[in-house]
Amino acid sequence: MSKPWTRRQVLAQMGIAAAAVHTLDPHELCCATPAWAQTADKELFELQKVGDGVYAAIAAPRYKTNCNAAVIVTNDGVVVVDSHSKPSAARALYKEIQGITNKPVRKLVNTHFHFDHWQGNQIYAEGNPGLEVVATQRTRENLTRPDAGLGGIPFVEKQVTTLLPAEIQKLKDDVMRASNPEMKARLESNLQQAEAYFQELKSFKPTLPTRTVSSTTTLQEGGREIQLHVFGRGHTDGDLFIYLPKEKIVATGDALIDWMPFMNDGYPEDWVQTLSALENLDFAQIIPGHGTVLPKSNLAFFRGYMADLIAAVRKAAGEGASLEEMQKKISDDLAPKYEKGMSKYPIGQYRDRVGVNVEMVLKKVVKKA
Ligand SMILES: [Zn+2]
Ligand SMILES: [Zn+2]
Repeated sequence: MSKPWTRRQVLAQMGIAAAAVHTLDPHELCCATPAWAQTADKELFELQKVGDGVYAAIAAPRYKTNCNAAVIVTNDGVVVVDSHSKPSAARALYKEIQGITNKPVRKLVNTHFHFDHWQGNQIYAEGNPGLEVVATQRTRENLTRPDAGLGGIPFVEKQVTTLLPAEIQKLKDDVMRASNPEMKARLESNLQQAEAYFQELKSFKPTLPTRTVSSTTTLQEGGREIQLHVFGRGHTDGDLFIYLPKEKIVATGDALIDWMPFMNDGYPEDWVQTLSALENLDFAQIIPGHGTVLPKSNLAFFRGYMADLIAAVRKAAGEGASLEEMQKKISDDLAPKYEKGMSKYPIGQYRDRVGVNVEMVLKKVVKKA
């Protein structure tokens, strides 16, 4: 079993192109890595054992960052949680799973509707006739809703018709303008990846949930108990938590990640409550949507950031501060407590997102848009 990605490896992968990352498109803000990461021949996942027959597939940092997956092997099959941003990434993990067990994948769970958590569904469906794809009822609805946010069939169409052509054109322009040979090579690699992703999405086959849950459900899967928890709104309005009570492991999707939360499709106040409900479960390890496997204690840190952020925005709004004033002051005020812990990776860092988070809390909590 190989070791998790170290910060040094991550930085080596990103190289100097990280310096060029500042023009984030909205679709890159959630969970995606902007167009700078490494080439397609690198490994996509590190499979880490977190319990007997339970693995965390920790996504390598790269172009269109993939989400992590949880892989749960039972006596008669496999349950996989989340399927990444594209079929080729799901195929890569599926191959790794087949290296662990020759049992079929019986169930695929999508924690929420964001593009980087479901766009690889088709690979598991193609390889496993009878596969059940499980999500909340709300997630299934979001996957077809035009205005749901950063995921779903309409968002795939938006990527193909608008976002990716624009991104590819920008990369082409950046390649032309690059003066540094190393930067130019990196951008050319990014361009190749963007074009490959574009091609993949053109032949994308939407594979929607076949089974939905609306409240907490317990599955007995080949001798293993797997609980699916619905605690209410959080990162989205359809978040699903996967809990293994015996193994004391929880998979959270992006409701809990190891970098700054993406709040644009979220419900900040509900999210705090949802995390408190999650905390009531008896677990020791968290497989987050992004980043490495975490101890339970990280939940309080992550929730604390959101609670403190909400309180700070409310206070500043009450004092009549402008958005710009709030962004500056709150970024600095919360930094001593949160900047280091929220900036462990070169992506999704505190200063990259705190301004947008302030804006979202103002809009969603104070102005109740
Ligand atoms: Zn994500
Ligand atoms: Zn997400």
